[in-house]
Amino acid sequence: MEAAPASLVVVAAALFGATVGSFLNVCIYRMPRRGMTISSPRRSHCPGCGFALPWHDNIPLWSWISLGGQCRSCRAPISPRYLIVEALTATAFVLLVRRYLLDGPPQPLVFGAVLLLVAGCIVASFIDQDLQFLPDEVTVRGMLAILPAAVLIPDLHLPARGWVADGLAFLIPFLDRARAVLPAFLRDKWAVSAAAAALAAIPVCGWTYLSYWRWAHPKEPKGIAGGALASTIGCAVFGSAAVMISKPELALHPRIHSLWCALVGMAAGAGVILAVGAIGRQVFRKEAMGFGDVKLMGLLGGFAGWGGVLSGFALACILGSAVGIYRLIRHRSRYLPFGPYLVLGCLFTILWPAAFTKMLGWYMGLFR
Ligand SMILES: [Zn+2]
Repeated sequence: MEAAPASLVVVAAALFGATVGSFLNVCIYRMPRRGMTISSPRRSHCPGCGFALPWHDNIPLWSWISLGGQCRSCRAPISPRYLIVEALTATAFVLLVRRYLLDGPPQPLVFGAVLLLVAGCIVASFIDQDLQFLPDEVTVRGMLAILPAAVLIPDLHLPARGWVADGLAFLIPFLDRARAVLPAFLRDKWAVSAAAAALAAIPVCGWTYLSYWRWAHPKEPKGIAGGALASTIGCAVFGSAAVMISKPELALHPRIHSLWCALVGMAAGAGVILAVGAIGRQVFRKEAMGFGDVKLMGLLGGFAGWGGVLSGFALACILGSAVGIYRLIRHRSRYLPFGPYLVLGCLFTILWPAAFTKMLGWYMGLFR
C-alpha cells in the first residue's frame, strides 16, 4: 500500500486537532466546576439561557464562525476562547505530526506521548489564564504517568543524550571564566550536572516531605528531622542519577537511562520553581510562585529532562517578563499567570532541542 501523501496527512491532523480542541474546551470549562464531569451532563448548554446545543452547533471552528460568536437561542456572546483553543490545538497537531511522523524517521510512541502532554498543557494553560490555578488532573496525573511512559518509550529521552549535559550551558561562558577557581571535580560537564541535580533535589525532597507531613499529620510538629533525611536521600539519589544521565554507559540500559532522565527532570523542574519562590518570598515578601507551577514544572521536566526544563524555564522568564511589562504599562495589571509561559518555553525545548542548542551557540558566541 502506498503511504498517504504528506498533504493529506497534514489536513487529517488539522481536522482531528480541531475536534480534540473542541473536547479540550469542554475540559477547560467543566474541570474547575463542581458538579460537572467531562461526561456529565451529556450535552453542552449555553451558560446564559440553558439552551442545549444541537450537534450542528458543536462542529469545531465552523459553528463558532457561522453563529458569529453568539448563542443561537439568546444571542449571548460565546467566548472567542472556544475558537482560539480549537485553532490552537489544530495547529499544534499539525506541528507534532510533521515533527514526529513526517520529517525524519517516524516515532509514533513519542508522538502519542507528546500529543497527550500538549493536550493537557492547553487545558492547564487556559484554566490558569481564567482562574489562576493549575488542575491536579493534568499536573499530578501527568507526573504519575510520565515514569512508566519513560520506561516504555526510552526514545522520549534518547534525543536528549547529546545535549542534556549542555542544559546549563548558558552558564558555561561564566563557568569558563570561573574555571580557574573551581575545584577540579567541577571542571567536567557531567560533574556540573551531578552537582546541579543534587542541589536541586535538596529543597524539592525536603519540601515534598514537609508538605506531605503537614497534609497527613496536621496536628503534630513539623517533622524537620524527616525533611532533612528526605533531602539527604534525594540529594544522593538525584546526584548519582545525574552522573548516569551524563555518562549513558553507566546507566546499563536505555530504559533505565530514560527513567533517570525523567526523574531528574522532574526534580529540576519542580526545584527551580521552589527555589525562585523561596527567593521571591525573601526579597519581595510575597508569594511569587504557586504550588501549581511546581507540579506543572515537575510534569514538563519529566518530558524535557533537566537540561530541557531549565532551558525552558529561562525562555519562559524572557517571554513572561516581556508580556508582563507590556500588561503593566498598558493595563496597569500586575498579575500574570506564569503557567502558560512555562508551557510555551518547555514545549519549545522538548520539540526543537536542536534549535535551542543553536540559540545557545549564538549566545555563547557573544562572550568570545
Ligand atoms: Zn443562550
